[in-house]
Amino acid sequence: MSDPRGRGVIWLGSPAFPEAARTALADEQLRANLKRATGTIRDKRLAVAAELDDWEELRESAAAIKKRVSRHLDRYLLELEASVTAAGGTVHWAADAAEANRIVTELVRATGESEVVKVKSMATQEIGLNEHLAEAGITAYETDLAELIVQLGDDRPSHILVPAIHKNRTEVRDLFAAEMGHWGQPAPEHLSDDPRELAEAARLHLREKFLTAKVAVSGANFAVADTGTVMVVESEGNGRMCLTLPETLITVMGIEKVIPTWQDLEVFLQLLPRSSTGERMNPYTSTWTGTTEGDGPRDFHLVLLDNGRTDTLADETGRQALACIRCSACLNVCPVFERTGGHAYGSVYPGPIGAVLTPQLVGIENAASLPFASTLCGACYDACPVKINIPEVLTHLRAEAVEAKGRTSAEALAMKAAATVLDSPRLLATAQRAAALGGRVLGRNGRIGRLPGPLSGWSDTRDTPAPPAESFRTWWRKNRKEERP
Ligand code: SF4
Repeated sequence: MSDPRGRGVIWLGSPAFPEAARTALADEQLRANLKRATGTIRDKRLAVAAELDDWEELRESAAAIKKRVSRHLDRYLLELEASVTAAGGTVHWAADAAEANRIVTELVRATGESEVVKVKSMATQEIGLNEHLAEAGITAYETDLAELIVQLGDDRPSHILVPAIHKNRTEVRDLFAAEMGHWGQPAPEHLSDDPRELAEAARLHLREKFLTAKVAVSGANFAVADTGTVMVVESEGNGRMCLTLPETLITVMGIEKVIPTWQDLEVFLQLLPRSSTGERMNPYTSTWTGTTEGDGPRDFHLVLLDNGRTDTLADETGRQALACIRCSACLNVCPVFERTGGHAYGSVYPGPIGAVLTPQLVGIENAASLPFASTLCGACYDACPVKINIPEVLTHLRAEAVEAKGRTSAEALAMKAAATVLDSPRLLATAQRAAALGGRVLGRNGRIGRLPGPLSGWSDTRDTPAPPAESFRTWWRKNRKEERP
């Protein structure tokens, strides 16, 4: 696990996106899996979004609510802390991944337990919680089906919503058969790759965990400041089991997930399921407010995680990324993600949102290639239910990445040399004559096959037209001089 800036957005930058993408592109099975899965979700999303006449107004409202939250984040967080505390919960503040991991580990230790069940959560992946708990002798069991597949395979999630999107059902069957027994209830003998059989095997395996776990760890989709209510939306019911059966519930939530009132939820609960799974409503929407005698966990802890978010908030353009509700619509429409998959981004946040969020959370110098992992086609902006202008943030971060590389990089030196030449008519004429000569030597049928030396990086992936035999200025001098008044 790398730990840029002392924070904990895991496994970043090894290798950087261009190299990782090249490897991923060579994997035909991966590309076929991704094409099928993203295409299906994309079509469903378009169909259900088109059912609502006020879809655009809902997007506008969501963007306005999120803007208000970012303007008054401090106020809403203090209000949330007071509401949760008044309802019987305990709020903890974590400046970074290390602090959040320490808090959660101590809370689990205080219960005397060495196992926890987990609801799918991006925030806990971001801080590398499972790995940290394992070092402390505590086993975390993922209970979301796709997260279970990832955990059994000692793999990494490759999609925000469908973490095992890179695996097909035959690969899942093989994994269940080989690994389930090491983590608890083994897979039934002669398991086929029929989705119903696979789901039943997971159900039996997980039920044992749900019925014995005393501690659960979750993330949160939203937390309502004025009531202290925390919410998780999910499709399988595993979350509901974790949120209700154990005695202690620990929720790790990014500070940007707070919203002012219950009324605001009305907007997001229409946008989120349609944008994420292409459903009209979430199959399971669980809410809880502190603790309730005789109902659900006796102890509730809410860990509010910063981990680079206040730095992101300070950037007027970049802060848009904090509005993300993790629907993953931008991933499913992105031509780059569809071809490379999520692992190439080297971050728990892949795709277009990962390309703008990760560099801000860890510092642009630690993720400089990610803002360039885009064609800037704008499909992500069109799809985003909270109207994050991802292309705008991408170009903003590209400028920062170039700046961060310093004045001595090859690109910076080339730009400096170009500026000097373009500034001087004499140097420009000399450069044009040299280019024309080079074009005659290297060009064939008006094209240069491969540029020499370090310039080959340009021509390897692009057609390079040979420079014309004479420049426009020379031609003008020869042909139009006599026409001057
Ligand atoms: S950036 Fe927008 S489209 Fe992408 S995951 Fe976040 S909310 Fe969804």
